[in-house]
Amino acid sequence: MNLNCIAVIGAGTMGRGIAQVLAQASREVLLYDADPCAREQGLASIAARLRQQAAKGRLEPAASEAAIAALRGIDQLAAVGTADMVVEAVPERLDLKLAVFAQLGQFAKSEAILASNTSGLDIDALAAESGRSDKVIGMHFFNPPPTMPLVEVVRATATSDETFASVMALAQDLGKTPVAVANSPGFAVNRVLFPMINEAIYALAEGVASAEDIDRVMVLGASHPIGPLALADYVGLDVTLDILESFAQRLDSSKYRPCPLLREMVAQGTLGRKTGRGFFSYS
Ligand code: NAD
Repeated sequence: MNLNCIAVIGAGTMGRGIAQVLAQASREVLLYDADPCAREQGLASIAARLRQQAAKGRLEPAASEAAIAALRGIDQLAAVGTADMVVEAVPERLDLKLAVFAQLGQFAKSEAILASNTSGLDIDALAAESGRSDKVIGMHFFNPPPTMPLVEVVRATATSDETFASVMALAQDLGKTPVAVANSPGFAVNRVLFPMINEAIYALAEGVASAEDIDRVMVLGASHPIGPLALADYVGLDVTLDILESFAQRLDSSKYRPCPLLREMVAQGTLGRKTGRGFFSYS
């Protein structure tokens, strides 16, 4: 299926990045956000990023301007009707995503593919809301989408072969490496990553080493590009806690139980980079 016009729902951290990647791959991109200010800020920040890339010589000025011209804000979800595909990137709350998929089922054209950038929610639940389960799929980009090479592609029970093949081909066309993973909590990357971050927090709480040293040993001894505690600060400690709680509940195992230190820090509003302090301080 030709995916020439793609709508992105949610113009936050991920929606902006995904919209940029799509526009740079010559797709016509429609950007929607429930908050019109976020949508406008999103469009402005993508344009600024693209022009910065051109100024640094990393992108041809003409390519940068063509990508900017390919982006358009829409002020109602109903305007996704011209899109061949929709990528949803609203916050990681099942109730919110279910409501968006119910509306997309109503407003998107019947042959349009509906993809979610969820980090690990159940794609079958989103598919059921949409009224077109065969066209629903997970397309999990990583942060920041313009530079991270991986896309996890998540088939739900009813996802058709055609939908799956179209999304795998699209990811490749975007210059990404698509990897098919099962529709299981956290998919593959987060299922492995977040228990490791949790263990690093337990190690800190139990005095195994300081925060600096836990990250240092993982960089030097395990060849990780960034330590687990700095990564938790980057993701946000509130988001980290939510993900671990959902694993503990959905996978029904105490091995995902969030470390009490993580709970304490979130309760105190120490959330990582976004609040200026987490395991480390940021000015
Ligand atoms: P974000 O909070 O930065 O942005 C979400 C945007 O969605 C906001 O601008 C908000 O106004 C908008 N929004 C809220 N409700 C909406 C609705 N009903 N309709 C349209 N827009 C709505 O969130 P984010 O970090 O970009 O995360 C988006 C999704 O991507 C989540 O599912 C998250 O799990 C996933 N994800 C995030 C990261 C990351 O590192 N941030 C990485 C991979 C995947």
